[in-house]
Amino acid sequence: MLTISDASPKHIGQSTHPHDQPAPLLQLVHVSQKFFTQSLWRKRKTLLAVNDVSMFITHGETVGLVGESGCGKSTLGRLACGLLQPSEGHILLDGRPLPPAGAHSWATGRIQMIFQDPISSLNPRLRVRSSIAEPLAAKHIGRVERNNMADAILGEVGLDGLGSRYPHEFSGGQRQRIAIARALITRPDLVICDEPVSALDASIQAQTLNLLRTVQERFGPAYLFISHDLAVVGFMCKRIVVMYLGSIVEEGSTEQIFTASAHPYTQALLAAIPSGDETKKYAPPEGELPNPLSPPTGCHFHPRCPHALAICRREPPTWKALAPDHSVRCWLA
Ligand code: SF4
Repeated sequence: MLTISDASPKHIGQSTHPHDQPAPLLQLVHVSQKFFTQSLWRKRKTLLAVNDVSMFITHGETVGLVGESGCGKSTLGRLACGLLQPSEGHILLDGRPLPPAGAHSWATGRIQMIFQDPISSLNPRLRVRSSIAEPLAAKHIGRVERNNMADAILGEVGLDGLGSRYPHEFSGGQRQRIAIARALITRPDLVICDEPVSALDASIQAQTLNLLRTVQERFGPAYLFISHDLAVVGFMCKRIVVMYLGSIVEEGSTEQIFTASAHPYTQALLAAIPSGDETKKYAPPEGELPNPLSPPTGCHFHPRCPHALAICRREPPTWKALAPDHSVRCWLA
């Protein structure tokens, strides 16, 4: 069995963290996730959705995971909450191997998930009070107490007294509030927020982000905040992990990523943030994410990179530490 000492910073490549920080809540150690294509006519192919990812989240912190759609961040989110079992590597919660989601265990209710589309995560035939109270059933709490707890948490997210309504009676922003209430009712240690505001209008986005911050201050869960939008991630997170085609390419504090990013892909994501500044240092990413079934050789970003060298086409870059908590995978760094 892997222990927390086996998953020490030296074991996880460049994911170093100062020793004076608390022990990680969640740790991913060389995690990979493979899927296989099925076709009658073609040879079975392997899709490496997550490739040798190591990262950690400490108690109460918010870590951002950013990258374009299809880069593997949602798969990583599902791995981090036990919905998927990794093809390779280990996932530890408080130093113990994370059991699969759904299996009743010591980890039940400790990790919850908020999805982009709240309507698909709420049962249309259940009153929202019952939907919110549902995760408590596994904790053997009586129905009356469950409903009281659901009404209380609805008040916390600004929907006091609306527990007897059905999901279709709410707006998109209100449904996301219900999803937040449902995620928080078990008092989780970690909430995986998978593009939680991508489907919302800009004004509702700001309200939802502020609500997530408020409930974090009140209840203290850590967040893994997944988004394609670096501006949103920068607003929410103290630490940012940048993902490209299944691999992590840069990680650092929000300040480092925004003021001293070293990977051309991170720089392109920064340039994609609308600012009205015509004198930006970098250009937004050009072209499409390559087909993950046949990724480019060497550095996967080389076909889109304005600085690609000959070595970039041949060999995958190794990690380089630029500061104790800032690392990058790029031959130029
Ligand atoms: Fe660009 Fe080369 Fe760095 Fe990849 S390793 S990001 S291709 S410079």
